[in-house]
Amino acid sequence: MGYSVYAIKYAQRDAVRSEHFLGGDPHEGSPMPMDYFIWLIRDSKGRTWVVDTGFDRSDAQERNRTLLRTAEEALALFDVKASEVDDVILTHFHYDHAGGVKQFPNATFHVQDEEMSFATGRDMGRKALRHAFTVEHIKDLVERVFDEKVRFHNGDVELAPGLSLHHIGGHTRGLQVVRVDTGSGIVVLASDATHYYANMDEERPFPIVLDVGKMIDGYDILRELAGEDGVIVPGHDPLVFERFPSATSALSGIAVILHRSRA
Ligand SMILES: [Zn+2]
Repeated sequence: MGYSVYAIKYAQRDAVRSEHFLGGDPHEGSPMPMDYFIWLIRDSKGRTWVVDTGFDRSDAQERNRTLLRTAEEALALFDVKASEVDDVILTHFHYDHAGGVKQFPNATFHVQDEEMSFATGRDMGRKALRHAFTVEHIKDLVERVFDEKVRFHNGDVELAPGLSLHHIGGHTRGLQVVRVDTGSGIVVLASDATHYYANMDEERPFPIVLDVGKMIDGYDILRELAGEDGVIVPGHDPLVFERFPSATSALSGIAVILHRSRA
């Protein structure tokens, strides 16, 4: 069974280095922009899993972000209709990952138990913990629970042969990452287990963090999941577009191929 895995950029913003490391950074004022992605996984039979859903136009406006394309528009570039997608994996419920639930009316959403209890429980009464959540998205997800369109997972699970979810926490209580054994190597979609390569490589956590210890443990888990030859794909790093080839020449700067090509 072979899988194809793509990162599709849907938004970007200007930022400086000090914003991305707990305790700042010695080169504080130098630019370090942030990219926003969704990820697309396809098997050889055409079955599709979408990882995260981006934010929507109202988030872009309220939070002053540049939205380049919605998840629906991003997937259309790959001839995937959001309305026909059966499986969406939500790595966590922050606005920039769970903002497009409505664009997938027929999908089942794969989530961690702990993320739903985090996003609907007592912690959301605390401003410092809720600021990256948008209540409308959480309401959308609760509605999907009542529609029996949420598949809850309690820890690690295999969704299909070679495609598995792994609960890490740290950034949020229920953050999960995706491991794909593509048939030509391992791809680990880290999402916000590491926003940038530098967070993990230099062991300097991103400042939006619930549990620093778990976030740092997460870096080791990512390495274990990837193994010797696997690749780890951070959640927001523009370097992803330098380290991986464009999906097609028409998609240059928009989407990259994360799986190694099969000989
Ligand atoms: Zn994020």
